[in-house]
Amino acid sequence: MTHPPQRRERLTPLNHAPAAVTYARETAGMTKRALAEACEVSEQLMCDIEAGRRSATPATLRRIAQVLGCPYSDLQTPRPHCQCAVVQNYDYDTAAQKLGCKPRFLKDRINRIPHQKFGESVAFCDCELALIQAMFTVAPASIDAWVSAPVSGQDTPPDVPAIRQIRPSKGRKTAAS
Ligand SMILES: [Zn+2]
Repeated sequence: MTHPPQRRERLTPLNHAPAAVTYARETAGMTKRALAEACEVSEQLMCDIEAGRRSATPATLRRIAQVLGCPYSDLQTPRPHCQCAVVQNYDYDTAAQKLGCKPRFLKDRINRIPHQKFGESVAFCDCELALIQAMFTVAPASIDAWVSAPVSGQDTPPDVPAIRQIRPSKGRKTAAS
């Protein structure tokens, strides 16, 4: 199984989904300039909003939704977990390939796994792939002790004999207890 790359350059999630704003604007047949004018913001800000460089304030986003005639929630990021600096839109096939599963596996579970929805299309970003991978990671309960064990200053737990005391075992004798 491949590990999707973690990108954490941007630590503050956006208030809006850049791709959703672009999609809604193009569906409405408006240019960025026209939308910016109608919303009374600069064209530069509109470009930054769509590129995901700047976050749209709730007021601006509400205005954009109003002008484009789409629900406000469509433009909001439904993905507060997303920390992608560059949001990738992997389709089923690419996502499945990255996860090492079959596209069918994702399609069958689409309502239960994080993804982006643009109309009929579905896309996955890198953090969504990481989340999906975490969702389907199966680990025995005993692993908790290893994962959550506090890291102490000691390199070796006290019940482990020092390396000098360990001798090659003759036959199958048990190690010093
Ligand atoms: Zn993401």
